[in-house]
Amino acid sequence: MPIRLGVPKEITLGERRVALVPDVVARLVKKGFHVVVEKDAGKTAFFTDDVYRSAGAEIVGNASAVYAAADIVLRVQPPSLEEISALKASSMVIGLMAAHANIDRVRRMQEKGVTSFSLELVPRITRAQAMDVLSSQATVAGYKAALLAANMTGRFLPMLTTAAGTIRPARVLIMGAGVAGLQAIATARRLGAIVEAYDVRRAAGEQVLSLGAKFLALEINAEGSGGYARELTAEEKVQEQEMLARHVGEADAVITTAQIPGRAAPRLISRAMVERMKPGSVVIDLAAESGGNCELTKAGEVLDHHGVSVVGPVNIAATLPVHASEMYAKNMMSFLGLFSDDGSALTIDWNDEIIKGSLLTREGQIMNEAVRKLAEGGSS
Ligand code: NAD
Repeated sequence: MPIRLGVPKEITLGERRVALVPDVVARLVKKGFHVVVEKDAGKTAFFTDDVYRSAGAEIVGNASAVYAAADIVLRVQPPSLEEISALKASSMVIGLMAAHANIDRVRRMQEKGVTSFSLELVPRITRAQAMDVLSSQATVAGYKAALLAANMTGRFLPMLTTAAGTIRPARVLIMGAGVAGLQAIATARRLGAIVEAYDVRRAAGEQVLSLGAKFLALEINAEGSGGYARELTAEEKVQEQEMLARHVGEADAVITTAQIPGRAAPRLISRAMVERMKPGSVVIDLAAESGGNCELTKAGEVLDHHGVSVVGPVNIAATLPVHASEMYAKNMMSFLGLFSDDGSALTIDWNDEIIKGSLLTREGQIMNEAVRKLAEGGSS
């Protein structure tokens, strides 16, 4: 009997992605899985039910039918409390659970006895690269951030020599040169801007230079464990601010992507720094959802501060739903490779580092230590 995978339509406001795209459905069906997709699940990402059907999926009329049929429910956003009620206790759920922001849902999955996995908790080891949704979705976010910046500056990004005069290229500053930052650099460069970038990890410098941007160096190295940044000391923060204030003031667009896992985003741009920027310039803050890299950022809003737009996009990856879904679905398929070889028998190794790292709830327990502590603390 094949394992039944279920893909419900995402119901979170603004979420246009879908957990499996038809190409990936076809590959999973070929492997031996049975795939049940809710009617119109791919509509907002431009994948029609007919294409899913041709790929071998069974289309069902509503989410309840997906939950009734599925052994493993595949999602982008975490299930709502109502959706958790509709799940079979024996089912598994895989998605971006954002557990820290959704403790009530985690508790409900725990109480129900559902086995849930959070893809953003997949450890970033080499073997898990093909499952790395943080990287695939950050790629989308960085690209889209550069387009947003270009769209909002009111200026050309490239240098233009025309009969109506010569246009100087725009200056774009990227703060945080991880996955999203590097993609933003590449995109702004393709559009012809002069790009400079900053990161506290020195290792990022080489990648920045290879993309044709200038790396703003500070004489400190803040590389922590696992390739992530560590938090800066107070003295280092002052040095960082002085150097950055000058470059922010000269930029037509600043794109910030700086994050520290498990903590609020570092504050890189103060109100005073924004006030040094020219009217018509723009700050795109990709860290808006984790508190913002800019003091003025409000998640989900566009503020005008003395003519400078401060933009705090929320779930920006969902605004490019075709490729964001394609990449997400491929990550999902790779992750499912840990569940079954032939699509019929579950062969999960509960001691596997990736399974252990991403497991959120199982057999009535919250399995992730940090999330368990949060749940026990009573906060939600
Ligand atoms: P992230 O989203 O956690 O952070 C984005 C960037 O912000 C990082 O480059 C970080 O150094 C930077 N940052 C943090 N504090 C800062 C500050 N105060 N000022 C300026 N920049 C600051 O990181 P990410 O993009 O997900 O990945 C970070 C690194 O991990 C990259 O080098 C990436 O290549 C690596 N990575 C490795 C794997 C793997 O081995 N499987 C997978 C993904 C990413």
